[in-house]
Amino acid sequence: MRVDDFHRIVVRNDPVTGLRAMFALHDLTLGPALGGVRRWGYGCDADAIADVVRLARGMTYKNALAGLPFGGGKSVIVAPSSGQYGPASRPITNGELDRFGEWLDELGGEYVVAEDVGVKVADLARVAKSSQYVTGVGRDGRGGNPGPKTAQGVLVGMEVVAERLGFASLKGVRVAVQGLGNVGMALCKMLHERGATLTVADIDTAKVTRAQTHLHAVALPVSEVLCADVDIVAPCALGGAITPTLAATMPARAIAGSANNQLSNATVATTLKQRGIHYAPDYVINAGGVISAGLEYLGQDGFEQKVLEIGPRLARIFDESNASGEPESVVAEGMAKAVLARPVLDRVA
Ligand code: NAD
Repeated sequence: MRVDDFHRIVVRNDPVTGLRAMFALHDLTLGPALGGVRRWGYGCDADAIADVVRLARGMTYKNALAGLPFGGGKSVIVAPSSGQYGPASRPITNGELDRFGEWLDELGGEYVVAEDVGVKVADLARVAKSSQYVTGVGRDGRGGNPGPKTAQGVLVGMEVVAERLGFASLKGVRVAVQGLGNVGMALCKMLHERGATLTVADIDTAKVTRAQTHLHAVALPVSEVLCADVDIVAPCALGGAITPTLAATMPARAIAGSANNQLSNATVATTLKQRGIHYAPDYVINAGGVISAGLEYLGQDGFEQKVLEIGPRLARIFDESNASGEPESVVAEGMAKAVLARPVLDRVA
């Protein structure tokens, strides 16, 4: 694992509460690092560090492309879990949240935290009692829960994807959504309102039932949803969902979802490109939440306009990918690195 490009990585343990957290601050060229905290059970420390490092690097590119004055960072809370890798086996305690806030404060403003998988807005509101470097909690009528804002951005991107597939709108487009959490369920509601046909899966069967009942969704087992015969698949659970085997065999013609690090390795992007499957790079299409959280932290308005910019940004990536023959993920990374390399005055302009 490469970490030589990181500003700093901090691992903290608290013997009193048992809290264990890792903070990865990747690149602070554009400003303090902004990214969510994930609470998840990992099999070993190496897996947790690998996750936080990959997520933090993605945040640098996400924030740069979204035009936000923030660098990239992420944190994970290593949660007790029943299995090797999976959701926490118990809720987080106030004592743990307070300790996390103190550690956050000790980073001196180099890292601003928002929510991610396994963490609720109410948890962050508690963290905000011991640290000022918290966002996505709703301040002065701005921001709040970033999940629905992320879904809004994914929807904007999906409209561009549908157009590339030859549809006039999302009406009648068949979409398979993996993961009906904060983002996935909100996305399903928006897609349903626009007349898309939904296929869904989640490990939480209550959420699946809700989508079947209220959104006329068809349910599939979690192992089958990404191989469904649909137009677009939307990975909205965890990373690594698009494996080499899936990329080589999936019938869908496009991938557009909220999960971070969707491609399990770099060869997947090439396979998708060779098969003519459009891939909306995750950190481009899922930027709605961080745009909302970033503007909330800065005390600025303009979310509705900024989230719409995801559309033309994605269209440009598809165009450049078509022209160069390079996978969309390679084009997006090049664009993000170009933003980071720009002289400061140029970036402000
Ligand atoms: P969440 O925890 O609210 O929801 C995740 C859902 O996925 C849960 O319902 C869970 O049961 C389900 N799930 C887990 N493993 C699954 C599996 N193998 N198959 C099917 N379902 C499974 O998280 P969220 O906030 O909705 O985020 C979803 C994804 O989007 C994550 O990868 C997250 O990092 C990413 N993301 C979220 C935001 C945001 O604003 N919340 C922003 C950018 C990216």
